[in-house]
Amino acid sequence: MSGTSTVAIHADRGIRTDRSVAPPIYQTAAFSAADAEAFAQAAVDPRGQDFYLRFGNPNHAQVAAVVAELERTEAAMVTASGMAALTTAVLALVSAGDHVIGQQSTYGGTASVLLNLLPRLGVSTTLVDQTDPTAFEKALTPQTRLILLETPSNPLLQVTDLRAVAELARAHDVLTVADNTFATPLNQRPTDFGIDLVWHSATKYLNGHTDISAGVLAGPAELLDRIWDTGVLTGAVLGPFDAWLLLRGLRTLPLRLPRHNANGQALAEALQAHPTVAKVHYPGLPSHPQHELASSQMSGFGGVLGIELTGGFEAADAFLGRLRYPRRSASLGGVESLAVHPASMWRGMLSEDQIAGSGVPLGLIRLAAGTEDTADLVADALAAADAVAHT
Ligand SMILES: *Cc1c(COP(=O)(O)O)cnc(C)c1O
Repeated sequence: MSGTSTVAIHADRGIRTDRSVAPPIYQTAAFSAADAEAFAQAAVDPRGQDFYLRFGNPNHAQVAAVVAELERTEAAMVTASGMAALTTAVLALVSAGDHVIGQQSTYGGTASVLLNLLPRLGVSTTLVDQTDPTAFEKALTPQTRLILLETPSNPLLQVTDLRAVAELARAHDVLTVADNTFATPLNQRPTDFGIDLVWHSATKYLNGHTDISAGVLAGPAELLDRIWDTGVLTGAVLGPFDAWLLLRGLRTLPLRLPRHNANGQALAEALQAHPTVAKVHYPGLPSHPQHELASSQMSGFGGVLGIELTGGFEAADAFLGRLRYPRRSASLGGVESLAVHPASMWRGMLSEDQIAGSGVPLGLIRLAAGTEDTADLVADALAAADAVAHT
């Protein structure tokens, strides 16, 4: 098997090859068919490339080929956002009367699907403490169909034991779906541990340039065929140009990610040693309570860290204002460093009580290291922490 850098550049090679070295952008809403039989076939071809844009196009197929090979899954499909990937998968896989298990520490949108959307549709949900290995088993009911995992979690960087949950789920005929946005397939491949389906906010590391919204699902073809059927109805289709940009971003993921990993680790170590920092959440730190588990399922720990300052919310806000390079912004995973206060950001998706239930401290800062020079980011973060300490 080829290395990941080669895969990222060549895995889509067989799809619509022509004489252009860069793939064309198929900026068309529809494709023509030679005859009635070909037309009828194209209409039912799961994740096809030749019928109507909402059903799939060659730019989607190229992205899917690269992601499937990086995640080592049979197939992949592309959606208009990470949330579109999640809701399409969930709507395809559960019905009224079913039960879904999720994590207490999870992305705000995922938490809102579990706490607000699914219960409205007659699907019951339980959110568990992912750091407790027995919690998932205790939450199982005869109606459980799906377990939604996220590791490391946004923004607390808590780790889930993928092997243990996958084994439990298999024994009870329950599907497991893992959000691999923070790790990417380069730091962690959930299917290696028995997880059934993987999804990404491709808006983040996979694209890496903070210029599109996109999502990806990767897993067995049979499962993706079912999800694609629902995706045609929900219609969360990625535009051709955005799919083309995503493929372009994916080409350099194996070059970008090692720098994100190095910057995340260096910032976590430097800030942890600063007197005004109360706690750093980063799975690459030996002080992280699940460092050993993280090391057993990840080969790198990514660029995102959670920081709590001794001065609480006021100090966190002052720290954000003092940073020179990371700008105050909701995203992560791009080449530029960004920092945010998650409890403020999630007010649009979750109630105050639901935010409290996620365990996110009000003063937590999420710092997403970009690919700038490590020494510059560390010096900047330490200078901001010094400034806060002296006010
Ligand atoms: C951003 C994010 C999402 C949502 O993805 P969108 O592309 O914004 O829809 C889901 N999970 C995680 C971990 C994220 O960081």
